[in-house]
Amino acid sequence: MQEADAVVVGAGAMGCAIAYLLSRKGVGVIIAEKDSIASHASGYALGGLSPLTTTSQGLEGFPTRLACESLRLHRSLYRELKKETGIDYHFKSPMPRLALAFTRREVEYLQSWVSEQKSEGLRAGWLDKEAVWAIDGRISRRILGAARCDKGVLDSYKFVLALAQGAEKHGAQIRYTRVTGLEKEHGQYRVRTLTEDFSCRKVVLAMGPWSGEAEAWLHMPVPVGPEKGQEVRLRLAGPPFPYTITWSRYHVETKHDGVIFAGTTKEDAGFDDKPTAESRDDIIKGVLRMVPCMKNADIILQTACLRPVSTDRTPIIGEVPGWPGVYLATGHGGRGMLLSAITAQLVVSSILGSGSNRYLEPFTPARFLKTHVDL
Ligand SMILES: Cc1cc2nc3c(=O)[nH]c(=O)nc-3n(C[C@H](O)[C@H](O)[C@H](O)COP(=O)(O)OP(=O)(O)OC[C@H]3O[C@@H](n4cnc5c(N)ncnc54)[C@H](O)[C@@H]3O)c2cc1C
Repeated sequence: MQEADAVVVGAGAMGCAIAYLLSRKGVGVIIAEKDSIASHASGYALGGLSPLTTTSQGLEGFPTRLACESLRLHRSLYRELKKETGIDYHFKSPMPRLALAFTRREVEYLQSWVSEQKSEGLRAGWLDKEAVWAIDGRISRRILGAARCDKGVLDSYKFVLALAQGAEKHGAQIRYTRVTGLEKEHGQYRVRTLTEDFSCRKVVLAMGPWSGEAEAWLHMPVPVGPEKGQEVRLRLAGPPFPYTITWSRYHVETKHDGVIFAGTTKEDAGFDDKPTAESRDDIIKGVLRMVPCMKNADIILQTACLRPVSTDRTPIIGEVPGWPGVYLATGHGGRGMLLSAITAQLVVSSILGSGSNRYLEPFTPARFLKTHVDL
């Protein structure tokens, strides 16, 4: 049985960010992944890093201050990872975003959203329709105006690859195997997998939408499941869109290589992660409402993957009650790329005992245990 200081289960953004920070601190890490690095949501996400989201992005309970701190951490991570691995994942911040309004109600909502951003110290403003068309004349003539704000962007797949390679450079090992159980054994943990077992003192479960599997190992609720989201990648002749353009749950964004990402959907389809014609048509309809000339674009790829969402739509981050040294880091919904940096920092500080745990309190796995007992 191989020994390690820590075993991280899952090589998505969450697992790889935690493994990278741990190994950088000299902790001996094994990452166990059932498929391959960034082969699920973390490899297909748009890669937008918006500290304050609109309601359509639907993740509750994550303080804007921590989300802003995560964006700040991404800036330094990018510098370090690019230097250590040579991988350029095209992080850019600020990247401007235009959130379009087509109705009076949307104007009201977005204007109050602008005020909220400003009160959080973020740069945001309201543009009337003429100002929007002056920025990009391809935007629909039916808009009433748009909120303008700043966000960050990155290439999700390359980001996770850089984290995994960075972790390896600091001594982490990656094993491609499915974890099937966790047991306490002589003051250590035995992590059971399909092919081999690992012995360690610390375990991080970052299993994305599959995190619910850990309920059987931990004998407590881990209420996380999948929410399907689809994206369509397109090419359009002409200049790139200088802004990320959004409306409701739809977005259009030109990536560094000229490919346009358009999305997205929110579907309750269990663990089915196959793209569908129905969702492609829905996304295209939303995109055409924002930018009618997209009717001339060529579809080059359609992707579907699963966001990890908890029942209270708040991430589950922290030590598992009754399992000292075992941590959960999951349930980040549609914001996992942004929040991976702060989540990794908080989890690693807690594991190393080097920081206050107070920021983790709202995310504690114990909140489900309480509900369980109350029932
Ligand atoms: C269409 C779409 C667009 C998105 N856009 C954005 C965006 O713009 N910005 C943003 O911040 N977020 C975005 N997200 C959300 C983001 O992708 C997720 O929150 C994030 O990828 C979750 O990362 P994770 O590591 O928790 O999960 P995952 O990426 O699902 O990784 C979990 C890993 O654990 C592995 N695993 C599971 N069980 C086991 C086991 N028993 N043994 C071994 N390995 C196991 C899985 O194989 C998987 O590789 C988007 C999501 C979708 C679907």
